[in-house]
Amino acid sequence: MSAIVYEHVGKSYPTGKGQSFQALSDVSLTVPDGEIFGVIGSSGAGKSTLLRMVNGLELPTEGHVNVLGQEPASLKGRELRLLRRQIGMIFQHYNLLSSKTIAENVAIPLVLSHTPKDEIARKVSQMLELVGLEDKHNVYPSQLSGGQRQRVGIARALVTNPKILLCDEATSALDPLTTVQILKLLQRINHEYGITIMLITHQMSVIAKACNYVAVVEHGRLIEQGPVGRVFAHP
Ligand code: ADP
Ligand code: ADP
Repeated sequence: MSAIVYEHVGKSYPTGKGQSFQALSDVSLTVPDGEIFGVIGSSGAGKSTLLRMVNGLELPTEGHVNVLGQEPASLKGRELRLLRRQIGMIFQHYNLLSSKTIAENVAIPLVLSHTPKDEIARKVSQMLELVGLEDKHNVYPSQLSGGQRQRVGIARALVTNPKILLCDEATSALDPLTTVQILKLLQRINHEYGITIMLITHQMSVIAKACNYVAVVEHGRLIEQGPVGRVFAHP
């Protein structure tokens, strides 16, 4: 089974005055179920566009994207919400709400899906324990380090038990040691829950530490893909 399949995907962004910019061209890519799949490329290569197509935040202008057997572009309303609930996402700058406590931040996806209060409390505790922040329920994001904030981001992303976790430059704002700790946590989550992880990064070291498979994107084109050991093997 493949969690995510891109078939001849292209994306052109309108840039005004009838002009457009081709951000992706003819990308075909398969993310196997249960893998940690990395996409590497420099800034502007098209990584974020590729990632955001998984939960339908961007739609392809050519080709097809299939996610867990469904095509986000063909879904709307409730069906799209149900698919999105199976997909968690974490960000470079964590995207936490500063006026809410850690527990309230983690609870957000469950509140939005009208989960009963006692179940929310139970799930939030479980998630904070998973990421090692069980003593931080009532503190605010500003009281945490970067690494801890990203742990909150991970807890929030996983609280709905998604099948896929998207990581958008999730360690790019962190120091090297904290990066290693977060990548280890992602590997543990992948191992324990079998969750498929797709991460994008501009850092080779992140791919080398965390991923089994890698795709290399340059100027909107896929120039290589395969097991990390093969793609990055130098004679
Ligand atoms: P990366 O994540 O690799 O940095 P992106 O997917 O964010 O790349 O962007 C790829 C290219 O598409 C960039 O040149 C960027 O400027 C352009 N782009 C991204 N989003 C838009 C948009 N909404 N409108 C116009 N151009 C965009
Ligand atoms: P991590 O390894 O998760 O990034 P650190 O070792 O950086 O955590 O932080 C250790 C302790 O210092 C934590 O208990 C955290 O609450 C506190 N701390 C870290 N950064 C800050 C900050 N900017 N403001 C307040 N407390 C902080």
